[in-house]
Order: sequence, then structure tokens, then C-alpha cells
Amino acid sequence: MNFDFSEEQIMLRETVRSFVDKEIIPFIGEWDSKGIFEPSIMKRLAELGLMGVCIPEAYGGSGMDYNALAIVCEELERGDTAYRTAVSVHTGLNSLTLLQWGTEEQKQKYLTPQAKGIKVGAFGLTEPGAGSDVAALNTTAIKDGDDYILNGQKTWISLCDVADHFLVFAYTDKSKKHHGISAFIVERTMPGFSSKAIKNKHGIRAGNTGEIFFDQVRVPKENLLGQEGEGFKIAMSALDNGRFTVAAGACGLIMASLEESVKYCHERKTFGKEIGRHQLVQQMIAKMEAGLQMSRLLVYRVGELKNKGVRNTRETSLAKWQACDFANKAADDAVQIHGAYGYSDEYPVARFLRNSKAPVIYEGTREIHTIMQAEYVLGYRQDKPLSKMLPSWPFAVDNNLVEK
Ligand SMILES: Cc1cc2nc3c(=O)[nH]c(=O)nc-3n(C[C@H](O)[C@H](O)[C@H](O)COP(=O)(O)OP(=O)(O)OC[C@H]3O[C@@H](n4cnc5c(N)ncnc54)[C@H](O)[C@@H]3O)c2cc1C
Repeated sequence: MNFDFSEEQIMLRETVRSFVDKEIIPFIGEWDSKGIFEPSIMKRLAELGLMGVCIPEAYGGSGMDYNALAIVCEELERGDTAYRTAVSVHTGLNSLTLLQWGTEEQKQKYLTPQAKGIKVGAFGLTEPGAGSDVAALNTTAIKDGDDYILNGQKTWISLCDVADHFLVFAYTDKSKKHHGISAFIVERTMPGFSSKAIKNKHGIRAGNTGEIFFDQVRVPKENLLGQEGEGFKIAMSALDNGRFTVAAGACGLIMASLEESVKYCHERKTFGKEIGRHQLVQQMIAKMEAGLQMSRLLVYRVGELKNKGVRNTRETSLAKWQACDFANKAADDAVQIHGAYGYSDEYPVARFLRNSKAPVIYEGTREIHTIMQAEYVLGYRQDKPLSKMLPSWPFAVDNNLVEK
């Protein structure tokens, strides 16, 4: 067991922290209140090599390990949940899924520009009638010569108006239930594709989330990811990576809640002393610190399992569930510590609380993760290696060579 970060990881953290301090935190209050997703941030993330931090260099990435992605997400969410969510869907749910399941041609065509940040990827699984119950989805992909024709609708899709490429899950054979779902790479420019943002969300207001529609979208068979019928398995493996980034981001939200609360504890006086001197306030601070340290251990353990190429669905689910619950509680306590001032836009803690709720819902609700953990312990569920695993790190030489 090694609990030390490498020099490279420490430098990465400093880079992201300084970027967030200078280019997100001073502006995020305004972007959040106006509901602006600032596109220049994605450009800057690309310039800093953060859009493909753990993608092999052969595919345009920075070639760092999986915990580097956790560091990026943790530090980004210290600034705001919106840009961490963007990296979660772009790298966690989309790019890493292409790395795991894509053909060489798909990696060259879609993964490489995504890892460089020239193109943005997103993930379309949820539908109006299908969230936790994925097999209830209604989007269809019907074979037509060398193409598939997609019809249907997805909702609550992060980066719906921003992304260039979408991983989309659709039934190729509904009679086979979840074994009849297939995964497709869909381009925004394909005729029949459209998107529409959801306005006035409770939180992540600086993020772009909404619906995507497929009206007779013709997708070439080369854009089928994996085999027909493997879509459910691919979606679940994508969530192993997405949930890891969500859990890491939650650590950043706890950090932000702690930083603001500690500052306020020293500023605000009641009954002749700093509020930080009151034991019940100290209890909230202590719980935030405990939540942060426990969440980090869970998250970085998952990163190590990914580095080793070991399946980590169980550990990722636990990290995501616990870290998001801790973050939601930390943000709630941060508002409490700020009293009435926390209940306004004067301090960022109200935004933290609004932002902390979606991660308890997306990528597996709190209830779904609770059930999963119980099922593992009771022996009703177990993880087996998949037919295609995420490559272990350091990446094998052939993952770092464009020409084999
Ligand atoms: C800001 C935001 C961004 C999102 N981004 C994306 C994205 O990029 N791509 C994407 O595909 N989706 C995205 N989602 C959708 C998200 O993944 C779904 O909302 C989530 O999977 C839950 O589905 P649902 O909302 O339909 O809730 P439901 O599945 O309808 O659940 C409703 C309630 O019932 C509970 N419940 C459901 N089943 C059970 C059960 N078996 N036992 C006990 N309780 C149960 C749930 O826990 C929940 O409390 C996003 C959501 C949000 C809020």
C-alpha cells in the first residue's frame, strides 16, 4: 500500500487548483446565477491537457494514471460542480468507454480528438421513462443495410448542447430485454439529431443539461460500440468510471464547504467568541473533515484498482455513495454554520448545497447504491472480469503507439 502522491500528481493538483482559483472561482457566482455554461473553460481545460488526463498519449491524452483523473475532478469541484460534471461525462463516461470498448478505428476517429479536447463527448442513457431502470428505455436502433436508424429521446443529458459526440444506448432487439440494448457513437451533425436545455435546475446552474432527440438518425454500423446486445454491459462499465469521477468531485465539494466554513468560523462572533469556539459548530467541522478523509481513501483506492486493471464496480459504488452523501451533508452544514447569511448569494455555500444534490441522484441514486452494497455483502451480487477491461496503468506499449 502506498499513500503517497507522485511528483507529477502533486504538480497536477497545483495546476488545477491555480486554474480554478484564477479562472473559475471569481466568476462562478455570476455564471451560476445567470445559468451560463462558459465554453471558454472547456477550451482552457484542453490547453492544460485536462480533457484526457488518463488517456494514453497515443490517443491524444496526457498518459497519466487513473488517480490523476480523480485529482482533476476533486480540484475542479472545489470551484464548481458544473465543470467537474463536464469532465465526468466527457472523460469518465465517454472517452474511457471508447478506450475500453472501441475498435482501433473508433479510437482514432473519436477518442483522439476528445482526449485532445478538440471534440467534446457526452453520454445518453437516461430517458423520460427510464432512469434507474435502464431496461425500460424506449429508444430504438433498427438495422437498415449498413446503417442503423435511431429514433427516440434522452433526457437529463449533461452537455446536451455542447458535446460533439454522444454515446447513446438503444434497443436493437427489445424482446431480449437488457441483452437487446446496443451502444452507438452518435455525432451531433448527423441529420435528425437535436437538443434542448432544461432551464431553472435546482443546482449545477452553470452546467448544461437537457434533452437530446433522434428523429430517423442514420448511424453507420462502424459506430456500433462493442457487439449488438452488449450495450447494457457497456453502460454499466462506463458508470464504473463516471461514478469514480463523481466521488472524487464530491471530495472537492467537501473541501470547498470546509474552507468557507473555517473562514466564517474565525470571522463571526456570538456570545463574545468566534463561532468556531462553540462545540456544536466544531462538531459540524469535525464531521466534514472525517467525511473528506474517508471519501478520499475510498476514491483513491478505486483509482489504484483501476491502475491494476482490476474490476471495481463494488468499490466504486461504495465510494460514489458515501462521498456524495458526505458532500451533501457537508454543504448542508456549511449553510448552517453561516446562519442566515448562508441562505443567500452573499456566500457560495448556498450554491454548494444546491449543487450537492444532483450527485446523490445521478450515476446511481443513493438508494440504488445502498441496494448494491447490501447485495454484495449478502452474496446476491458479485463482480467478474468483463470481456474487455479498461487497460491497466502504466499503459502497455501498444497503447502508447499509434502505429503498431
Ligand atoms: C444534473 C443531472 C445530470 C445528469 N446527467 C446525465 C447524463 O449526462 N447522462 C444520463 O444518461 N443521465 C444523466 N442524468 C440522469 C440520472 O442519471 C438519473 O436521474 C438517475 O439515473 C435516476 O433516474 P430518475 O431520475 O429517472 O429516477 P428514478 O429511477 O425514477 O428514481 C426515483 C426514485 O425512486 C428510487 N428508486 C428507483 N428504483 C428503486 C429501487 N429498485 N429500490 C429503491 N428505490 C428505488 C430512486 O432512488 C429515486 O429516489 C443526470 C441527472 C441530473 C440531475
